[in-house]
Amino acid sequence: MYYAGVDIGGKNVKMGIVDDFGKIVSSMEYKTERERGYDAILLELIENVKSLCNEAGFDFEELIGIGIGVPGIVNSRAGLVMSCSNLNWMGVDLANDVTNLTGKVCKVCNDANCAALGEQRFGSGRNYKNLVFITLGTGIGSGIIIDGKLFEGLGCAGAEAGHMGIQVDGEKCACGNKGCWESFVSTAALIEQTRAAVVKYPDSLLAQVCKDGISGKSAFTAAREGDAVAKGVIAKYVDYVTYGIIGLTNILHPQAFVLGGGISNEGAALVLPIKKKLNEYIDNNGFYPYVDVVSASLGNKAGFMGAAALVM
Ligand SMILES: [Zn+2]
Repeated sequence: MYYAGVDIGGKNVKMGIVDDFGKIVSSMEYKTERERGYDAILLELIENVKSLCNEAGFDFEELIGIGIGVPGIVNSRAGLVMSCSNLNWMGVDLANDVTNLTGKVCKVCNDANCAALGEQRFGSGRNYKNLVFITLGTGIGSGIIIDGKLFEGLGCAGAEAGHMGIQVDGEKCACGNKGCWESFVSTAALIEQTRAAVVKYPDSLLAQVCKDGISGKSAFTAAREGDAVAKGVIAKYVDYVTYGIIGLTNILHPQAFVLGGGISNEGAALVLPIKKKLNEYIDNNGFYPYVDVVSASLGNKAGFMGAAALVM
């Protein structure tokens, strides 16, 4: 059986046809061109799903359904996109519109939740029925899976770990609250932490690495060269990430945390110290069992693969 998964981003649409085992039989990526508006984006999306079916060598009629991930607040039970500032969509009836135009079952979900589901079904979370997926990127995305099912909260507005407050009177966040976890662990936060270290230690190797610009990779690059200042930046960043993960562990105690997003590409240099600190905390408090921490493995395919899983 074949299922279509679509991941609509503000810049690009990624989609693929997936079989029951999570094998991608055809896939494509193209520009969203959101200024075209909802109808044009929707019609092209459907045409592209049809051509992916042809490319994979079967008829569109045989496709079981279409799952779609959207970067915004999505009522997945009703199939409604409540608000999506990236695409300028407000209250669109996406699932019903797709079904009316194609006759296919359609499910819609928040994009981070889709990525969480993708990793849990087909990626590095596949050994776990209970996990928390976190993307460390421009923003902090998160998805919670309990007993193999997405936990979304009332109106599907929950599972937003990035907006968990960790500092009263902290920095103001776009969500309106202050001191959100996101403001400590996003790429922008890591860049800011790196910049502060460069200002304080202008003679460090880190400062040299950053002379043509600072990115989320700078501290990891300098740390690999043995720079103590860079190692200090990463140790502090790991503290911030682990602090939030400990909070989530105390609430959910999942089997694993799966870390995705750009910063997670650093792999073991990021994941191992977080795993060590988290399990030391668990151990010291007798909160057995241990919790695994792993890097996501599907990269930017997690979103559309999880979207396909919505209709399996
Ligand atoms: Zn916030």
